[in-house]
Amino acid sequence: MLPTAFLGLGAIGTPMARHLAGGPFDLIVWNRTTARAEAFVAAHGARLAVSPAEAARGRAVVVTCLPTSADVASLLDGPDGLLAGFAPGATLLDCTSGDPATSRHIAARLAEHGVRFVDAPVSGGVSGAEAAALTVMCGGEADDLDRVRPVLEAFGRRIVHAGPLGAGHALKAVNNALLALHIWGAAEGLAALAKSGVAPELALEVINASSGRANATENLFPQRVLTGAFPRTFRAALLDKDVGIAADLARAARVPSPLLQLTAELWRVAHQELGEEADHVEAVRVVERLAGVTLRSATVSSAAGAS
Ligand code: NDP
Repeated sequence: MLPTAFLGLGAIGTPMARHLAGGPFDLIVWNRTTARAEAFVAAHGARLAVSPAEAARGRAVVVTCLPTSADVASLLDGPDGLLAGFAPGATLLDCTSGDPATSRHIAARLAEHGVRFVDAPVSGGVSGAEAAALTVMCGGEADDLDRVRPVLEAFGRRIVHAGPLGAGHALKAVNNALLALHIWGAAEGLAALAKSGVAPELALEVINASSGRANATENLFPQRVLTGAFPRTFRAALLDKDVGIAADLARAARVPSPLLQLTAELWRVAHQELGEEADHVEAVRVVERLAGVTLRSATVSSAAGAS
């Protein structure tokens, strides 16, 4: 028995928490917008907490999955805050894609109350969360990680101990910076090819059988850009945040990083143009607008033209 709480029932938090409901975790959930937590409880049978403090009370593990580390820090204090509920010996398992510096601050605050901290951001997207097939990158003490491993294994297929506290966040940020870079670079390259008479689907077919391929060209462009579907699974605002963390990390480590800094700047601009709710792949629309070309498959373009 590992009594567990889950805070943050967003796009990825919800399918992650689902794997903890109804099992040995005696799950209790809290969400800022209560209606979302009520819907989760009605569908999956967990208990509903009215505050972070109530969620943390009597729990061995408290999972957070919020947009930023600052959001996690904002839940610590006050009569309804996590620290008012945590028992000594509990662990805060932070699955937010957060930043190492704020996490070190959070961990120090928790340590004053005998509470442990493991950063454990995830990769694999909403579909990976639904299939309990996430990769989890952990930072912290090995003993602490072992204690929360059953929770991680409920939604993760590959659990990696990346290093000391904050190492999980750092690794996740760099991974996502590469994702951002691949999306933007592929959009620019395909736009140039389209304007030179090479169809995007043909270009992707060749790239994906060659050395330029990446997740963006193999999956995101064929499934979301060429089709014009652009499903909303991971907000551009969140990827902007991740690239910013990676760029800051490189600067703090005194690594010359013009490409990371430029990628961060591009995504800041895209986020500003697209707003808070757009999906990350919609950044391609920004490149399309600048280039004056649309990267849809011939079928989608002609269907759109016919309507
Ligand atoms: P969403 O924006 O879909 O959901 C965010 C969740 O956090 C909601 O439950 C929201 O509550 C809650 N929240 C936001 N701000 C606060 C706050 N200040 N205090 C308390 N709760 C708050 O985000 P995702 O679920 O997509 O992402 C969560 C984390 O996981 C992010 O760090 C993201 O980078 C990472 N991630 C996301 C992936 C994805 O595919 N979506 C993939 C891998 C990592 P409310 O309902 O009230 O808005």
